[in-house]
Amino acid sequence: MNKPVLTIVVPCFNEEEVLPVTASQLSGVFQELMYDGLISFESTILFVDDGSKDGTWNLIEQITKQSSNIEGLKLAANAGHQNALIAGLEAANKRSDCVVSIDADLQDDIGVIRTFVEKFIDGFDIVYGVRDHRSTDTLFKRSTAVGFYRLMNRMGIHLIPNHADFRLMSKQALDELLKYKETNLFLRGLVPLIGFPSTKVYYDRKERLAGESKYPLKKMLAFAFDGITSFSVAPIRFVTMMGFLSVIGSVAVGFYILIQKFLGQTETGWTSLMISIWFVGGLQLMGIGIIGEYIGKIYQEVKHRPRFAVEKDTFSNHTVGKQLQKVVLKNQ
Ligand code: UDP
Ligand code: MG
Repeated sequence: MNKPVLTIVVPCFNEEEVLPVTASQLSGVFQELMYDGLISFESTILFVDDGSKDGTWNLIEQITKQSSNIEGLKLAANAGHQNALIAGLEAANKRSDCVVSIDADLQDDIGVIRTFVEKFIDGFDIVYGVRDHRSTDTLFKRSTAVGFYRLMNRMGIHLIPNHADFRLMSKQALDELLKYKETNLFLRGLVPLIGFPSTKVYYDRKERLAGESKYPLKKMLAFAFDGITSFSVAPIRFVTMMGFLSVIGSVAVGFYILIQKFLGQTETGWTSLMISIWFVGGLQLMGIGIIGEYIGKIYQEVKHRPRFAVEKDTFSNHTVGKQLQKVVLKNQ
């Protein structure tokens, strides 16, 4: 096999403080991989500037001039981490055999990129970087993360726990990922959906090198909510269930109310009012839920997600021409 062309995609938003260190450390690892013969000399590090307001793009331009293996892509406005990442992946896909995505702050261990590439050469299409433990994160971030994975799992969204967006993908897997045209991107939910042979590589997550997190609580909650609503109709189903339970409950409550009435402990009008509130309320909730189910279906349809991904195919290559050739050869 020829040496694979690797592209490392690094989304950067206001990262001028950390970028020079990141560039030099990544280059170091990169050079080693090239000189050890693991990756092709055509491999590239691609910095994606996600509409930064500081000097990030100027820095990227400077670095690209100094090194032939570093390139830059500048987005016109801040599009968000996931969009910046997909922009980079899309660009990288055109000239790579495999692509690694990593954050600019080097919280992820760049040392394991070598293992990623080795796993790719072994035949894995997707290699997930998984944090061994989250000791460097705050207790708050750690416990919210655990809760998040539990909640997602309950709703039928199977994420790789403690894996963020540090991963390697083969061109074949990336081609499939790029068929997902949805606007609300939640990559770590999508990648496991495509399939292909995959494996995990464990590493220690470090402190941010410099600068501060671009994911404050508000953004994190929005991200989690996006993840849930992009992948699951469980919340809608919950409403339908509540409605159903309240209609059933209304029968029990109805008995209680009627008993009260016959015992004569009620005001006029209370009985009919109570029964209406419980029964009609339940019906309404159920109705909303059922309408929600249809909206959920429409939502799934408009996403136009691909229905399958082909991994191997001997059928399409099996052309009629080939068959004829075989027949001709046999008859000779
Ligand atoms: N990032 C981006 N666009 C944004 C926010 C963040 O490209 O709108 C990048 C950021 O530069 C970094 C990565 O996404 O490379 C992850 O962000 P950060 O490290 O701040 O998140 P955390 O690790 O704290 O979750
Ligand atoms: Mg970070």
